[in-house]
Amino acid sequence: MKELAGFDFEAQPSIDPKQIRDLAASHWIANGGNVLLLGPPGVGKTHLSIALGREAILAGYTVQFPAATTLVAGLAKAHGERRLGEKLLTLSKPKLLIVDELGYLQLEPDAAHLFFQLVSRRYETGAMLITSNRSVADWVTVFADPVVATAILDRLLHHSDVLTIRGDSYRLRAKRKSGLIKPPPAGDGPPVGSASLRPVTGGNNLQTRSYSRWWGQFFMTQRGRFRMAFDTPSNM
Ligand code: ADP
Ligand code: MG
Repeated sequence: MKELAGFDFEAQPSIDPKQIRDLAASHWIANGGNVLLLGPPGVGKTHLSIALGREAILAGYTVQFPAATTLVAGLAKAHGERRLGEKLLTLSKPKLLIVDELGYLQLEPDAAHLFFQLVSRRYETGAMLITSNRSVADWVTVFADPVVATAILDRLLHHSDVLTIRGDSYRLRAKRKSGLIKPPPAGDGPPVGSASLRPVTGGNNLQTRSYSRWWGQFFMTQRGRFRMAFDTPSNM
């Protein structure tokens, strides 16, 4: 069962337990805010999104949790059948929409545009929790069309908490303990063949930013820093 109680915060020092507890109080959902959980595979993004979704339900909110691919396929199907409006209306109903694993696939321009319509529809009225193995700077690649990517991020980041989780896969850690696979090389660098997100600023591992309307400028000026700071292979 993926609950907050079952999440081992000690094993994941890049997450601030207090921040997760604050999010679990679900106030951000009432305000139509967004949460982005970013980080490499296996660090607990899905676990935390299920746990936060459960807390939201317990607080009385309606929650829907489609996988990103299912969601996008559903939008495309509805569009093809000329019932996109109806589909968007349905998807605007839950107070929290969790989109898990955005970024594993690159979205074609048409699909990206449909996703944009969904984000616009929910903007400032319905909360979204999105998990991705890609950094925000890489979303331009995920959404193929940079104009659409910019428009999506503009809305998503306006009232948002962005949590970047770093570290090794929890699953692989258990295997490492048993000696089944070798530990990663010592030092700061990522293990070969796996992804590791480095924070932009040293010291504090957790990156949380409240973005504002000027994020576009932020994005332009920070992109280079993101690219330098994140050494995740862009094809992860
Ligand atoms: P991600 O979505 O980031 O790829 P998952 O949430 O699917 O990772 O985590 C992979 C597995 O490891 C899941 O079974 C999850 O419950 C478990 N897991 C990951 N991090 C933790 C943690 N800190 N404490 C307890 N279980 C964890
Ligand atoms: Mg996941």
